[in-house]
Amino acid sequence: MHQANKIQKNIISWYVKNKRDLPWRETTNPYFIWLSEILLQQTRVSQGLPFYIKFTENFPKIEDLANASEEKVLRLWQGLGYYSRGRNLHFTAKIIVNDFQGVFPKSYKEILKLKGVGHYTAAAIASFAFKEKVAAVDGNVIRVISRLYKIDQPVDSTQTLKQINEIAQELISEKHPDLFNQAMMELGAMVCTPKSPKCTECPIQEVCLSYPDKAYEKIPFKAKKTKVLERNIYYLVLKNEDSILLNHRADGDIWKNMYDFPEIEKPEIPDLLSSFSLENIKISEPITHLLSHRKLNIQFISAEINTQKIPISGIWTELHNTDKLPKPKVIVDFLETYKKKYPLDFKA
Ligand code: SF4
Repeated sequence: MHQANKIQKNIISWYVKNKRDLPWRETTNPYFIWLSEILLQQTRVSQGLPFYIKFTENFPKIEDLANASEEKVLRLWQGLGYYSRGRNLHFTAKIIVNDFQGVFPKSYKEILKLKGVGHYTAAAIASFAFKEKVAAVDGNVIRVISRLYKIDQPVDSTQTLKQINEIAQELISEKHPDLFNQAMMELGAMVCTPKSPKCTECPIQEVCLSYPDKAYEKIPFKAKKTKVLERNIYYLVLKNEDSILLNHRADGDIWKNMYDFPEIEKPEIPDLLSSFSLENIKISEPITHLLSHRKLNIQFISAEINTQKIPISGIWTELHNTDKLPKPKVIVDFLETYKKKYPLDFKA
């Protein structure tokens, strides 16, 4: 392998000197490491950190997480997005407590069998907690290796990914697999960044094949463009006295078991409500909400109604209780503004 020893040595000593102090780096407890990895998937460190603190404070042991209600887990997850991760986390905690007597599996192969845990996460836990020599290859590592070895093939092809994984596995340090994996990821996050990498600060610049001719400007690249689906959503927000009509999402979508509002077809009050007395009707400006492969254009149509007996299904909930329920971020934000309109009804 091209300069493997030099690469290992340089990035590990760079990491030890320059790493950010993060709480999950101070522990070898596999439960905390697993928690941090799941919380940080598709999430920036600065955004994930308060959630890590919240989860470890509320659930200091895996048994605490396993015994919590799904509603509590989702409520704490609120604002982080990708809620299926929260549900998988809870599900897996119960499996570990019930089937493994609360003992976290100790090898890459066993960890990989857990729900919601892919190759990268299993390798990260196995190496950080148990020092298993298995390379953890995330987006940062893909970028560093493809630039380092000037791999000018699309990194979303199975073949290229296989090649990158093989290189990482050959490069990984025998003695410090944990530090090596962390160092590669930190280098990708802090120095070998997607745009304008800081090559002058890079500990492996000397051996980087993309550096001399600035090939890093075009590496890595992907062959396929992700298709983004666009959807218009119109939420009907009905208020009766100090209660509001909520919708509990029971179907198997990304917001399963969370609360939002009943949806309607068009941005206007449906005909079936025409015989009721409605007041203070307001239609909000459209808000764009981006999910991984979806763009949602959301409008809130709010009104006050004089009865709770209406032909629209939902759960009438006292406004001051809405805070305790798990909700998608876009609903939390809407309710924050709504609170200002009806401050007294939000008081318990
Ligand atoms: Fe990335 Fe630049 Fe370092 Fe090469 S020299 S690995 S492109 S930061």
